[in-house]
Parts: sequence; structure tokens; C-alpha cells
Amino acid sequence: MAKLIFELSSEGRKGYALPKPTVPTKNIDEVIPKKFLRKKAARLPEVSEIDVMRHFVELSQLNYHIDKGFYPLGSCTMKYNPKINEDIARNSCFTDLHPLQDVQRSQGALALMDELSQFLCEIAGMKAVTLQPVAGAHGELTGLMLIRAYHEDKGNPRETVLIPDSAHGTNPASATISGYKAVQIKSNENGLVDMDSLRANLNENTAALMLTNPNTLGLFESQLKEIKELLDEVGALLYMDGANLNALLGIVRPGDVGVDVLHFNLHKTFSTPHGGGGPGSGPVGVSERMVDFLPVPRILKQNGQYSLEENFPKSIGKIHSFYGNFGVMVKAYVYIRMLGNEGLKRVSQNAIINANYLKSQLKDYFDMPFPGAAMHEFVLSGNRQKKKSASTLDIAKRLLDYGMHAPTIYFPLIVPEALMIEPTETESIEMLDTFVDALIQINKEIDENPDLVKHAPHSTPVSRLDEVKAIKSPDIRYNFDAQ
Ligand SMILES: *Cc1c(COP(=O)(O)O)cnc(C)c1O
Repeated sequence: MAKLIFELSSEGRKGYALPKPTVPTKNIDEVIPKKFLRKKAARLPEVSEIDVMRHFVELSQLNYHIDKGFYPLGSCTMKYNPKINEDIARNSCFTDLHPLQDVQRSQGALALMDELSQFLCEIAGMKAVTLQPVAGAHGELTGLMLIRAYHEDKGNPRETVLIPDSAHGTNPASATISGYKAVQIKSNENGLVDMDSLRANLNENTAALMLTNPNTLGLFESQLKEIKELLDEVGALLYMDGANLNALLGIVRPGDVGVDVLHFNLHKTFSTPHGGGGPGSGPVGVSERMVDFLPVPRILKQNGQYSLEENFPKSIGKIHSFYGNFGVMVKAYVYIRMLGNEGLKRVSQNAIINANYLKSQLKDYFDMPFPGAAMHEFVLSGNRQKKKSASTLDIAKRLLDYGMHAPTIYFPLIVPEALMIEPTETESIEMLDTFVDALIQINKEIDENPDLVKHAPHSTPVSRLDEVKAIKSPDIRYNFDAQ
């Protein structure tokens, strides 16, 4: 186990060697007023440069990440992100820009943002896009604020938002935070929206339906046209959770099938590394009738000049400081430009074929509640294994011993012992086969040596953590006095 950086500390050891100054220097309290100075020196670790380097390289190797191995975490789209995105986003021409810089001197950045907005509009068939939201959930909140503003403009904000029971947990949370009552819609035996349940809950008080497509079971909501007609009858809007758009690029444009509001996750579909809390970007695209309500400032282009305009009286206002996470926008822009039309379409084709290949290779080994063709991800059930002795959690933990990240587990909630697998488009057939072999092997172990699976992982830096305690009472502060 790696030592903590504090344990590596040795008094007086330094990570730098500077020559003595040849000019007169001042004492610190001549530069900073005394009242702002610490009374006692901070107890920082004192280490050499090579200690620091080795320490953090070792930590990075203890951690699991996409550059290290397969990461089939369903719904999260943990795909490989080309390093050229990082390279360009770190160009000092971008990083040295200040968000308060004069508009005249940030024309390049505004052009990039404007073009990215147009790309996203074109990809999803939407009329306009705001780049301000900084996460998928933030995009949802923004989208629901737009929906409220739209209905309010018509005289009545309405009360409910309908959400299928397979939806991502952020959907009902966003609806509740924006003051709506989240009403659950059932899924039918094929894993799609149950139309009877929809009809029973849809009325003149419904502000919108929040639909994830493909849904979290990896299934395409094929009743979309009928759903849209039902919504139109009562004047409700159609919100689409487009976090996992890597199943649709170049194949379906949500705007063309009547979606009014859609959020993108640039940090999933458009190639920004994610996890650990950000930074992300959750742009929101809207249909024509929603445009007036978009957040300000909006980027306008007139006579070849870009400007930031605030004067839109119906706007919901500002929903983030400055203009969102610009660095993430640069990465998405580079990614889209690198791939072009054909490349983006191949992204989705490969994401879909990879998921279906895995699904077909695993169908004899696991229960498959929804056996039909999948989109970019699919859901297995570990029911059969659970009856023998090993739960889905055990299988997930055992996969770590095979050097792979586990799939998403116990989600969506409507599948017992769920394993939600998303291979993404960037994995080779060899990698997919390795994953299948590991799962087949684990199945064998469940029969022959169940304890091996039930007490896994055996080869990771730490074994089973108390996951609730790890979140509720994290112990991350070094306590000198306890040493
Ligand atoms: C990831 C995800 C979200 C939330 O996105 P965040 O950026 O994590 O807030 C919402 N819906 C679906 C379907 C997702 O996969």
C-alpha cells in the first residue's frame, strides 16, 4: 500500500533548488499585512521532487481509469477520449483568455462557441442551443426552467412532469427542484413506455414528458410518434434526456421527431474525460417555440462580428457564472471537427454494434429481461447467479480481479440484480472478447468456488469498502496528532 505524502515528509527536504537572490528582498510581513498572516506555519509535507513524482504516479496506478483498461459503466459512456482534444484545449490561446475580457478580444472564443452551438443544432435537429449548463443534471434543470417559462408565458405553468420508471435519477430530482411534481410512468414488458400508464397520467396539467432515448435499458423508444401526438393533444412539451446521444449521431435527429427540449452531455458523447465530479458541460437544445426563453447572454453574429446579448425579455436569465465550462466546449468542438459527418455516424454505428455483439455473446450465461436488439448499451440480470450464491455486486467485484472496471449495477431499478453494460465505440473486438471470457469464467467460479467470487476483489489495493460509510463519513484529513 502506498504511504501518505505526509508519511514521506522529512523536515527541511525541498522540491526545488533556487540560487540565493542577488537583489534585496523583503520579509513576508512587509508585503502582506500581519493580520492576514498565519500564526503558525502550515504543516505541509516536505519532500523532494522525485518523491512527489513517484508518489502521484503510484497513486495514479492504484486508481482505475479509461487509459488503463476496459470501463463498461452503463449510461456513463466511459469511452477513450483522443488526446488531441486535451492538447488543443490547453493551448494558451484558450487558457489565457479571461471571461471578462473585452468582446472585441475574444472573437475567436465566441466563434468557437457559436460554431459548436450550430454543430449541436445540426446533430440533434434543434433550433438553438445554450452552452451554459455545466452538467447533464444542470441541463435538465435549465430545460425544465425553459418549460416552466414557456407555459407561464401561456398563462399557466402547469403542475406535473411525467417520467418513466427507467429514467436516470437526476430526472425526477430536476423536476422536483424546478417546482414540478414528478409522476412516474410505468414501462411495459418490452421495456418501453407503457402507453396506458402514459394516457392515465397525461392531462392539461402536464407540463412535459421527460423521455430518455435510447432509454436506460438501451432500447429505442419506438412509440415516439404516438407519444408526441398524445402530448400535443393536451399542449404538453416533450423533453428528451440526450445524455447518451452516442447511439443516435447521424442516425436520428430528436428535433425531427418533435422534441422541444434536449440536453446533451458533452462529457459523455462528445469526448471529455469525466468522473470525479467534473468539469462537464450539458448544453440544452430547443425547438423554435422555446427559443425566446433561452438563458442570457446569447451569442449573436452580425456583420462578421460576435457579441454577447442580454436583451431578451422572456429569457430565464443566467444559469451559470460567465458562459459555462469553456474548456469542455473546446474539446467537443475539436472532436466534432476531427470526425466530421461520416465519423460521427460511425461512432454511433460502432457503439451499437459493440453493445449488440456483447449482448449476443452473453445471452446464454445471464438472464436477459429484454432480449431484442439493443442500442449503445444493454441490461442483464444476475438473477440466475444470485440463486446459486453470488449477487450482482459479487460479480462486479470479481471483475476487478480480471483487470476490468465493473458495469453499472442495480440500475435501472426495474431490473432485479441489474448489470448495465456499455462497451462504447472505442473498444476493439479483442477487448470485448476478453470481457466476455472474464464473465464466463466468473460464472464457472460461482459453480466451482463461490467463495472466490463472494469475497472478491483479491488483487486490488483495497478490497470491499463500506460504500455507505465511505460517502457518509469520508476520512480524508491527515491527523498529525493521532500519529
Ligand atoms: C449521466 C446522465 C445524466 C446526468 O448527467 P450528469 O452530467 O452526471 O449530471 C442524466 N441522464 C442520463 C441518461 C445520464 O446517463
